[in-house]
Amino acid sequence: MKISIWAVWLILLPLGLWFLYQTYPPKIDGNTSDILAFLLFMSVVASMPMMINGRPVFFLQWASLSVFLIFGLFIETVLVQLALIPILLQLRLSQETRFRLPLNSSMFFLVSISSGLIYYGLGGKHAADILWYPNSLFLVILYPLIYFLLNAILIFFISQVVYQRKEKFFTLDLGWEFVTTLITYPVGIALYIMYKQIGLIALVLIGIPFISLSVILRLYHSSRTVNDYLKEIAELGHQLTQNLQVKETIAFFTNSLYKLFKLDFVFIHEVDESNALTMIARVENKRVFPSFPGVLLINEGICGNVFSTKEPAIYHQKREWLPINKGYMPMETESVLAIPLLKNEQVIGILIVGSKKKRAFVHVPLMVLQLLCSQFAVAFENAKYFEKTKEFSERCALTKLYNYCFFEQLLTSKFQELKSSQINQLVLIMLDIDYFKSINDTYGHQAGNEVLVEFAKRIKYLVGNKGIVARYGGEEFSILLTNINIQEASELAEFIRRMIEIHSFTIKQSMKSQPAKIKITASIGLASAPHDADEPLALIKHADRALYTGAKQAGRNRVARYVK
Ligand code: GH3
Ligand code: MG
Ligand code: MG
Repeated sequence: MKISIWAVWLILLPLGLWFLYQTYPPKIDGNTSDILAFLLFMSVVASMPMMINGRPVFFLQWASLSVFLIFGLFIETVLVQLALIPILLQLRLSQETRFRLPLNSSMFFLVSISSGLIYYGLGGKHAADILWYPNSLFLVILYPLIYFLLNAILIFFISQVVYQRKEKFFTLDLGWEFVTTLITYPVGIALYIMYKQIGLIALVLIGIPFISLSVILRLYHSSRTVNDYLKEIAELGHQLTQNLQVKETIAFFTNSLYKLFKLDFVFIHEVDESNALTMIARVENKRVFPSFPGVLLINEGICGNVFSTKEPAIYHQKREWLPINKGYMPMETESVLAIPLLKNEQVIGILIVGSKKKRAFVHVPLMVLQLLCSQFAVAFENAKYFEKTKEFSERCALTKLYNYCFFEQLLTSKFQELKSSQINQLVLIMLDIDYFKSINDTYGHQAGNEVLVEFAKRIKYLVGNKGIVARYGGEEFSILLTNINIQEASELAEFIRRMIEIHSFTIKQSMKSQPAKIKITASIGLASAPHDADEPLALIKHADRALYTGAKQAGRNRVARYVK
């Protein structure tokens, strides 16, 4: 598709121009300086679009109308093509979108040529008195309307065929464009009349007010956007701080960045106590990818400068950042913006955003971005703190396993999942170390603790991701397994029992004496839901019963299933 667009353009443009030159030869002699003045004027108008509702609107058509009436079709076509150059350069097209150059050029070319040919076909002329006779005046009014219509049809056609968008032809946007373009046409006709009367001065009289208006609107617009940004950021900051999870906070922040700015990549690095940087978020084209492991030194790479100056660093193209880059950066990246994440004047992390386009961040209001970053820094630290305290209240300090409290909550929520058929089977395994009191009595309480830690580590390892392990109390542990049948669960329990029995535990006892190896065993009870119990407490009671009557009383060091 892209190649055929280039091919059509390469054939259409020279052939079309040659045809026009032959059929409607322009009168260039004596007009050269005027034509150049109009070219300059059109290029300025083209490179300074008016900003309306945040979108650039190019008012080129009224200028091209007067050029057409004054100099004829050939000059109009050529000047429009030349005036397009600054517009297209401003778009900073990347490799993939470069086909828009021939596409836009061909489109304007076709519109110029067809509306001009229709004008001539209907008997349109370039005589000085065309405005004084109804017939020729009618054509002068008709010409820009045809021009507008052809332009709209071509744009519609391109969006359907090239971009494959399913849009309607008559949209509100088209209506607005019609109105705004229409009100500029009288200016084009006025320019034509004035030029005929007073020559090039007309360009100054009409051009300067028009260009000044563009500049003023542009200034007004850019100051307005900072206000808009600030409003939006105040709202985002509020939502940011409401997130209590680190992962959610990061996701919300990166999404906000995509919403506010045009960018392709986002990377967030966190600074740790030893001043090393670790990547904690990697989003490319709005998709989240696993962060790269490994650390970067804080004083090197793109982040290095940002860390020491605590100021943002901006790179407009690849060759500016490539020589200093140390970390990961996608190959297609051109523009890079690195911003420190500051909390209490401390750099707690560094945000890197990237774009595939050159000079993509020239107009990004840095102050606004820095503000958002500082809000993120606060929210991020809060979420980290919250997760830490939560972890603290959920886990046993000695073994780092979940505690009884957490386990009961977990069991309740798993029962809800069971009831809503999100899971279909639940097995609870309870373990109790045999004769644990005698370990305490023989080797001391500290040694008992060591055994508990080692025991916890082992069952966590043996269970792996098959279930969740908790310290239920003293020397009792529980394992919750979902979507596993009781047979498999019994086998797992038996395996755990064997592994504990076979491999002795090491206790350091005291600093002076040698570490001792002791053998311990555990008794294990199982119950399952919905088979044995239909609520959490019953499941615990039954697993406990299996443990005490089925395993302990039957001689310890064995696995027992609940029987009614
Ligand atoms: P059984 O085979 O019947 O389970 O005998 P046992 O000795 O293991 O059971 P008992 O319930 O009589 O004793 C449990 C002991 O576990 C009592 C208590 O001092 C000890 N214990 C509980 N929590 C801890 C702890 O955190 N650290 C240490 N070192 N000991 C603990
Ligand atoms: Mg015990
Ligand atoms: Mg016990």
